[in-house]
Amino acid sequence: MAQIDDLPPLREVIAAHGLNAKKSLGQNFLLDLNLTSRIARSCGALDDCTVLEIGPGPGGLTRALLAAGAKKVVAIEKDSRCLPALAEIAEHYPGRLEIIEGDALEIDPVAVTGGGKVRIAANLPYNVGTQLLINWITTPDWPPFWQSLTLMFQKEVGERIAAEPGSKAYGRLGVLAGWRCKGGILFDISPKAFTPPPKVTSAVVHLVPNQTPLACDLKALERVTAAAFGQRRKMLRASLKALSADAEALVEAAGLKPTARAEEIDIAGFVDLANTFKTAGAV
Ligand code: SAM
Repeated sequence: MAQIDDLPPLREVIAAHGLNAKKSLGQNFLLDLNLTSRIARSCGALDDCTVLEIGPGPGGLTRALLAAGAKKVVAIEKDSRCLPALAEIAEHYPGRLEIIEGDALEIDPVAVTGGGKVRIAANLPYNVGTQLLINWITTPDWPPFWQSLTLMFQKEVGERIAAEPGSKAYGRLGVLAGWRCKGGILFDISPKAFTPPPKVTSAVVHLVPNQTPLACDLKALERVTAAAFGQRRKMLRASLKALSADAEALVEAAGLKPTARAEEIDIAGFVDLANTFKTAGAV
């Protein structure tokens, strides 16, 4: 096990603070500091930015981020039982770790990171991970407040984020992420690395903002992809009828085949569809 600081091993921290994992909070702790260090290194340069960490738990990734030189870490944790363990880390790295107790879905990430360069890093709780990602990649302002996202998901979710057209995993999440971001899965992590082990393999995803995404109205893109992938086996002329009685003509006007299925349409195609449906007042 790697020694990255003078703090006690995570197993001791968990035992000392009685942090038995709660399923309802998606708690699968990563205790291997080699792995948390690898995730921290994957974020990019940390010495000039604030890292926003969601769900630090007993602090394995938090410690790795600080040991890797993060200028500051702001960590949001919902489980108050973890706060004393996190306070010990804050004491070890004076002025560099701020802990916020609360629900990351309710807290404004811009307000708590206070401007400047921000990178987001997290071993995300599986029950809120996808929603948090969607919040970060659908901010109205683009480029967004963050420089990068380095996030651990269940592998199946990672595959949906990174999916290419034509693949089974390709859907709304892949279109949204691919439209606004670049990146993908960096590496997998076996269930054995966690305490307790989850049922499935995890994957670390790294995304950076696409500085010049194709011009498109976000709401229109969300509505078109929801309709198209909501009935992914149907041809677009049928699946998009829910949005417009003229769906077939509009799909053609967007330069696409009305007989194509959602899975076959690349991101530029969805942008054309969203723009055409928006101009026609259908979304
Ligand atoms: N970062 C730690 C690690 O890698 O070992 C813990 C990761 S664990 C998968 C997820 C963490 O997120 C838990 O500590 C859990 O209490 C916390 N959590 C769950 N829901 C949350 C929420 N809505 N807001 C903030 N933290 C949350």
